[in-house]
Amino acid sequence: MSRPRVIRCAACAGRIKPHHPHIGVEDLETGVEFSYHVRLGCQIRCAEETDTRLEAGKVFAAHHYHSARCPDEAPGFGCAGGCFDTPMAVAN
Ligand SMILES: [Zn+2]
Ligand SMILES: [Zn+2]
Repeated sequence: MSRPRVIRCAACAGRIKPHHPHIGVEDLETGVEFSYHVRLGCQIRCAEETDTRLEAGKVFAAHHYHSARCPDEAPGFGCAGGCFDTPMAVAN
């Protein structure tokens, strides 16, 4: 359990450094979590893919992971570390 988990972005397949801010979308049924970069292109893919999965009747919880340097523990936008300054393109 001590080995760090390699996180890959579900949108661009690029690696996400664990100490960088990223977004996780967790399938509450399976516990599988899809991770995405904070950058806009990946966030748009995140919103699109989550929409598609929601239409398939799945239930998700979104997690916002702050960078290791961020002093703000609370999830969300506009944190003290500026992790999520880019507005997330969430389709409602
Ligand atoms: Zn990405
Ligand atoms: Zn932060």
